[in-house]
Parts: sequence; C-alpha cells; structure tokens
Amino acid sequence: MPEPGVSIHSFAFLRRLTSGVLETSPVWDAHAHIGRDRDGRHLDVETLIRDLDEYHVDGAVVFPFDDPDQGIDFREPNDTIWAAFERAPDRLIPFMRLNPNGPWETEYQRCRDRGHRGIKLHPRAQNFSLDSPAARDLFAQAASDGLPVLVHTGFGMGPVSDTVADLAKAMPDLQLILAHSTFIDMPRAAAVLAPYPNVYFETSVVQAYDLFAVLDTIDPARVLYGSDLPYASSGNSLRDLAVIASVAGIDKAHYAGLFGGNLLSLLAGTAMAR
Ligand SMILES: [Zn+2]
Repeated sequence: MPEPGVSIHSFAFLRRLTSGVLETSPVWDAHAHIGRDRDGRHLDVETLIRDLDEYHVDGAVVFPFDDPDQGIDFREPNDTIWAAFERAPDRLIPFMRLNPNGPWETEYQRCRDRGHRGIKLHPRAQNFSLDSPAARDLFAQAASDGLPVLVHTGFGMGPVSDTVADLAKAMPDLQLILAHSTFIDMPRAAAVLAPYPNVYFETSVVQAYDLFAVLDTIDPARVLYGSDLPYASSGNSLRDLAVIASVAGIDKAHYAGLFGGNLLSLLAGTAMAR
C-alpha cells in the first residue's frame, strides 16, 4: 500500500512498486489503438503520447480499432496507423489489422513490405475462428515472415486455449501474443498454454485473479505489459501489473522484461523462453 498522503494513482507509488524500472529500463506497451471504432471510441497520436508520457512509457505497439471504414481489408485504418508511426517513429511500433474472411493477402503484403512489424486479429469483431483454413493460412504466412500475431482473446469469445495450443504446436515458428491473456479461459488457459514457448500473454484489462494465474504459472519472459488504450489508461494498467507481479512474488529482475524488454526482444527476434 502507498504511504500516508501518497495517492494510489500517483507516479510516486508506481515508482516504488516497480523499483524504479519505469525510469531505468525501456517501458513499452504491447497493445494500443489509434483511429476510431464502431463503438464510438477514438484516439489520436497526440493524446496517446500524452498518456504514455505521464507514466514514463517509452512507446506502444499500435494498430487499428474495429474501424467503421475498414472496408474488406482494413486498408484505410492501416494507412492511419502508418501515418501515426511516421509522426512518432521513436514512440510507436505499427501493426496491421487484417480480416481473414476477406482477401487479406494483398493488404498483408503491402503492410509487411512497408514495415508494419506485426498483425492484430480479432476473432469476434471479424467473425472468424482461430482454426479456420483462412486464419491458419494467415498464421502460416506470418510465421514464415517472422511477424508476431496479436490475437484478441478477451470479452465476447468462448474458451480458445485448446485451439491456441494446437496452433502453437503445429507452428512452432509462429509468435502468438494473446491480447488480454485469454482471461475468458482462466485459470485453465495458463496450465494448457504454459508448455508453448511461442505463446505470449499480454496483460491489458485482465482482472487481478486472472493476472495472478498468468504470473504464477507462465515464464515471466512470456508476459508482456499492455494497456488497450484508450479502453484503459497507462496509469491503471501499469499499477495493476506491478501490484499483481509483487503479490505473485515475481523476482524484481524480471520487471524490466515484463514492462517492455520482453516485447522488444520478441520484435527483435531474440525472444527466448526459460
Ligand atoms: Zn484492444
């Protein structure tokens, strides 16, 4: 708990919880949106960076929302992400969003060749299942190009751990980031997925008990800090991860990885599980 007079929302409290890691190591957020969503949410580069700056977050992976102008292949929202990246290349890592139900190949190649560093998929919003033939083709392509795929595994979905385990086993070169740590399927998911070193757990909007299950079971080198901005704030997301990491007894030596180092290693192609 914070000392008397220190707010639980303050950076001072966060600094103590994280033993200074936010100031001494690169802090990177694995999950943020830029653009606008069908649900009315929107976020621009300036607002995103203001939020990151407030909590010493060096930068974020950014990708489209479920954009009303996504068309058949997310071309426009992917361009929005690239334009944002060009305005803040030191702060943003651009991912493309794709729809496996449509003609995704051309848009995939266009974004890959331009320099998008990974892919975001949302099985509920784009209405596909992770083991559909189109999704498997997309995963195989990403694996052969060394692009990580971040998949929404949160609200609105049924249990997916067994499907994810099958994919991870069939495609050991595929780097799969589970957005929201597949909390819909916790605590079972942690046990089912622990054996697969190519499956990563991203922590945005994961509730305390589920986050504990992840940190208590999964190699901390496979856990990635995420916020899901603008659906949560950097401050709350950092604090929740710091509190639960401390409760779960995670060695402080892992904090630099948890809050950004693991993500940067994964993107650099140097990630190694214990
Ligand atoms: Zn999101």
